[in-house]
Amino acid sequence: MLTDPVLVVTQERTRNPVPRPVWIFDNMINSTEGAPEDGGTVAIFDTKRKFLGSAIYNSKSRIRARIFSLRRRTFDEQYIDEAVRAAVKRRLTHFTPGESFRAVFGDADHLPGVVADKLGSVLVLEILTLAADRQRDTIVQSLTRHLGTRGVVIQRESSLREKEGLDAGPPIIDGDVPRPLEIALDDYLLLADPVQGQKTGLYLDQRWNRRLLSPHAAGRRVLDLFCYNGGWALSAAAAGCAEAVGVDSSAPALSLARDAAARRGFAQTRFEEADAFDYLNDAHNRNERFDIVVSDPPAFARGKTRLDDAMKRYLSLNYRCMRLIPAGGILAACSCSQPVRLSDFEHTLELAARNAGQRYQLIARGGPPPDHPEMLGLPATSYLKCILLRRTE
Ligand code: SAH
Repeated sequence: MLTDPVLVVTQERTRNPVPRPVWIFDNMINSTEGAPEDGGTVAIFDTKRKFLGSAIYNSKSRIRARIFSLRRRTFDEQYIDEAVRAAVKRRLTHFTPGESFRAVFGDADHLPGVVADKLGSVLVLEILTLAADRQRDTIVQSLTRHLGTRGVVIQRESSLREKEGLDAGPPIIDGDVPRPLEIALDDYLLLADPVQGQKTGLYLDQRWNRRLLSPHAAGRRVLDLFCYNGGWALSAAAAGCAEAVGVDSSAPALSLARDAAARRGFAQTRFEEADAFDYLNDAHNRNERFDIVVSDPPAFARGKTRLDDAMKRYLSLNYRCMRLIPAGGILAACSCSQPVRLSDFEHTLELAARNAGQRYQLIARGGPPPDHPEMLGLPATSYLKCILLRRTE
């Protein structure tokens, strides 16, 4: 409210001044008025006394404040319920209420630190800021009410929690949480463990990109590298591929993939536990060919410092994929590294093709789906790239 403590920000000292910041880093703070409380609300002004927005505050984080509204608001029960309702309403322009989708995506939905997936009848929640952690019960109640979910899993394992001074720990489970969960997506189904799986149990963000590949799958031989619970392989199987091989290093994820394939009677799928790079080398030595290769590795780059190394790994990985692809075949090359820019990723694919002595056309650029929206002006919310290439020569 009007009595909220004030942060005055100056941007001259920062390397990339932005006219309207969303995140206020420690080096952007010019002065402080009143006594900002960790996890509380502060009002943000610039040095010319122009109001920039209402933000949550945490002195323990390098991101001292995150603007959640351009108006004077307090991050309280009423605000949270309004923001959750608005986020869910936006999802319902893309999904039916019974579907699985990301219901809230942090800053982009004006709820910094709140990531909420609706997986069937279960709400899977990550809480990554102190302010959101303090309002955890309110957030759970509001999401449960607006989504109609019957159980909740709150994940507490994340390096982002540490950066906010929050503790990590085992997930908190409440209500009816079937394990595994059966998730229907388009014309395939996936099995997910919302308690012990990676992330919230499944990668909902690739759903729309898999649709780009489906029209090419019929009758073809598909390699799904870093397959996790089999999303790409199972969607290709539903689209009538002749054979799909999924490869991942996680045994529990592969077992979910196999069970999901069995439930749909997909006899043409096979899931193998292996290091993807080793698998690619072995397949090359065996002279194997795949008409379609999907490469969807974990993020190779997290901070800017490891970017060069990461680009080398993308180059080597995609080169190895290309060696298995015959003319007319397709590579779906993905990167979920936030610091890797689309143009740099495409350049790396070009180098990989040159090294392989092949030529490709770019037939589709996928990206994040509308339930993982990127906030304009906050590049940190943009991470997923998915490029479909067709080998022409
Ligand atoms: N393609 C998946 C998401 C992949 S996430 C989907 O669409 O849902 C990245 C996956 O890579 C994880 O499942 C992880 O277990 C796996 N992984 C990480 N390093 C690996 C490696 N060196 N070889 C094989 N799999 C690996």
